[in-house]
Amino acid sequence: MNILIIYAHPEPQSMNGAMYRTAITHLRAAGHQVKTSDLYAMRFDPVSNRENFSSVRDPAFFKQQLEEIYATEVGGFANEINAEQEKVEWCDLMIWQFPLWWFAIPAILKGWVDRVFAMGRFYKHGHFYETGLLSGKKAMLSLTTGGPADHYLKAGFNGDLDGILKPLHRGVFEFTGFMVLQPQVIYGPVRQSPEELSAELENWKRRLDQIFDEQPITIGAY
Ligand SMILES: Cc1cc2nc3c(=O)[nH]c(=O)nc-3n(C[C@H](O)[C@H](O)[C@H](O)COP(=O)(O)OP(=O)(O)OC[C@H]3O[C@@H](n4cnc5c(N)ncnc54)[C@H](O)[C@@H]3O)c2cc1C
Repeated sequence: MNILIIYAHPEPQSMNGAMYRTAITHLRAAGHQVKTSDLYAMRFDPVSNRENFSSVRDPAFFKQQLEEIYATEVGGFANEINAEQEKVEWCDLMIWQFPLWWFAIPAILKGWVDRVFAMGRFYKHGHFYETGLLSGKKAMLSLTTGGPADHYLKAGFNGDLDGILKPLHRGVFEFTGFMVLQPQVIYGPVRQSPEELSAELENWKRRLDQIFDEQPITIGAY
């Protein structure tokens, strides 16, 4: 199968870096095709503006979604954006590997979504959710937190992780047609021993071995 991994961590020796490299090596060894976007290494520019495009629909007023629809029609996305869009279109499964920052994805990854998930190309009127343009594909979040697991329960210190991840699961993945797989979460890697972290990496490999047999979860509107 074709797997795309989007990786957003500035330090290659981090636990996120270890998860990223483990996934690439393990999935390729199992015979899958793997493409990647290492956003910090690419120095991906997260600022969304006219540089998303080689085409111009309206030079007087920049309205991003209208420029996106036009760029879809005329092949007018900037090369770096088109290359990312082609990777998403190519994949059967997309994995995002990132640390939780301020209850959210790092800005570089948010900017990647803002620029790459374009109207016309990835969603358009009449094509959302079940009829989304990316229907048939699967997506999964793989993340680390600073806080321990019990901080991310419903009555916990921070509230439940499902609620924190819903804008991504529902607002990005399901919205564009992806089926959502259960997130892979490592809670508080800085609090774990090297042995526990090695076990986390082994768990990750075991999960990846049967990832295409997993049933998607339904996020839904409520
Ligand atoms: C701007 C910002 C906002 C934040 N907001 C939040 C928030 O909202 N909620 C929250 O919970 N946390 C938050 N944090 C904390 C952040 O989520 C954690 O620091 C991060 O998830 C930890 O993951 P890491 O990859 O950076 O770990 P690291 O600190 O890089 O690594 C953890 C440990 O893993 C070890 N390791 C690396 N590779 C391996 C390997 N191959 N085998 C075994 N061990 C290995 C490292 O040596 C290290 O000891 C925030 C941090 C920042 C900077």
